Amino acid sequence: MYIYKAAVIGAGTMGAQIAQTISYAGLPVILKDIKPDSVERGLATVRKIYQGRVEKGKMTAHEMEQKMALVSGATDYSGFGDVDLAIEAVFEDAGVKRRVFADLEAACPESAILATNTSSLSISGLAAGLKRPEKVVGVHFFNPAHVMKLVEVIPGMATSPETVDDAVAFAESLRKIPIRVQECAGFLVNRLLMPYLNEAAMALQEISRPEAAVEEAKRLDAAMVALGLPMGPFALTDMIGLDVAAKVAAILHDSFGPRMAPAALLEEMVKAGRLGPKSGAGFFAYDDRAGDPLPQVVAAIQKRTGIRGTACSPSRLLMPMINEAVICLQEGVATAADIDMAMMAGTGFPQDKGGPLHYADQVGLDVVLGDLDRFTRELGPRFWPAPMLKRMVAAGFLGVKSRRGFFTY
Ligand code: NAD
Repeated sequence: MYIYKAAVIGAGTMGAQIAQTISYAGLPVILKDIKPDSVERGLATVRKIYQGRVEKGKMTAHEMEQKMALVSGATDYSGFGDVDLAIEAVFEDAGVKRRVFADLEAACPESAILATNTSSLSISGLAAGLKRPEKVVGVHFFNPAHVMKLVEVIPGMATSPETVDDAVAFAESLRKIPIRVQECAGFLVNRLLMPYLNEAAMALQEISRPEAAVEEAKRLDAAMVALGLPMGPFALTDMIGLDVAAKVAAILHDSFGPRMAPAALLEEMVKAGRLGPKSGAGFFAYDDRAGDPLPQVVAAIQKRTGIRGTACSPSRLLMPMINEAVICLQEGVATAADIDMAMMAGTGFPQDKGGPLHYADQVGLDVVLGDLDRFTRELGPRFWPAPMLKRMVAAGFLGVKSRRGFFTY
């Protein structure tokens, strides 16, 4: 199905960026919100993104106006009669999204694809009760949507294969990298990223000298940057927002159980008002405030748990991500190649390491299994190795050194 006209509902952070991306690909797009000033703000964001390109010499002012002419603002559904694909980016609230989908079903043609940019809600759940659930699909952009190449395309239980193919083709037409992901909590990228971020928080709350917590966070961040990651786990959690990270962690815990139990440190930092740059400080300070609660928070957690002085290394942080990648592979959430591509394009996993599964192949799957077994003994069953990993090692599929692992060499 060719998409001639698109619509974005919700002109906030993501909606405006998605509308810019669609118009940049040459497609007319309606940007709809509830109030005129929200629509104006969204349109101003779209213009600002284009203006940035003009200032960098990447397009002329005339080209910018041509692209801007493709974006029209709206506060009602009057222009939706010929929309082929609508993507909602309204508040992350199932009730609000369901109402938007019901409105879209009434306003758009029967053939229209109804996509959601939800980060955490069930696609199947959002589609339940609609007249055309086969048309509903997750199309999950990453922030900033006009920069990040990755788009996760997630079918719900009732989504038709044609809808998924059309959503993938649409994302390709936006010059994005679409990855097909079977529905699960966190989808693919957040499901793999969160165990890594959570383990960093676990390691920090268990250090031997709580008074040195800030220095230790910096040291761990530097160790991960030295491995080739664009930023360390604490700087990244700050950027995501500790409140958002804690919410994602809770959703994963609810779905996957004890292996995803959130680190107490995340919640305690949220309680202390340390949300990241948006509140002035998170794990690190972004303003010149005096005093840092991190050492006291860590000391208080240690008093409660009695756990202090566990060993930390980059391997401790990466193994939960690699293990979850293997669990996703064995569950059929995505292919091995797509898992690696998603982590490189979505999180900046170093290109030279090729994503978590290629990296595991380089390290050696027997070594990965050995590390996971040791961490299971020393730190707990959240490190329990994926059954598929054990089978591969037993079969002699050890990665690069045996020329066969998750990939062939
Ligand atoms: P936001 O709060 O910046 O924007 C939401 C917009 O939706 C607001 O302008 C609001 O007025 C509008 N809105 C609410 N109800 C509406 C309705 N019934 N009809 C029309 N407009 C309505 O939110 P955001 O950060 O852009 O997130 C939007 C969606 O994208 C959420 O589902 C979120 O989980 C997802 N998402 C966010 C990010 C991110 O980093 N912010 C990344 C990926 C996905």
